[in-house]
Amino acid sequence: MREGRCLCGAVRFAADGEPKWTSYCHCQSCRRHTGAPVSAYAGFEAAKVRFTGDLSTSDSSPGVRRGFCGRCGSTLT
Ligand SMILES: [Zn+2]
Ligand SMILES: [Zn+2]
Repeated sequence: MREGRCLCGAVRFAADGEPKWTSYCHCQSCRRHTGAPVSAYAGFEAAKVRFTGDLSTSDSSPGVRRGFCGRCGSTLT
């Protein structure tokens, strides 16, 4: 199991098993979302990921919904 949380701890997540994929992305949308030149991602089956707390979301482009902590601003999904 993999576990993590945002900077302030208001949003936590846990994922079971191995990720289906991992990747880096440096597209303009990811750079703007994170404020970083490159981001690392791990993709899991949705049924194997659990969030606790209030995960805020925004639709950044067609078919893409990004998740973040509405309290501290940490980017999460
Ligand atoms: Zn937070
Ligand atoms: Zn990207």
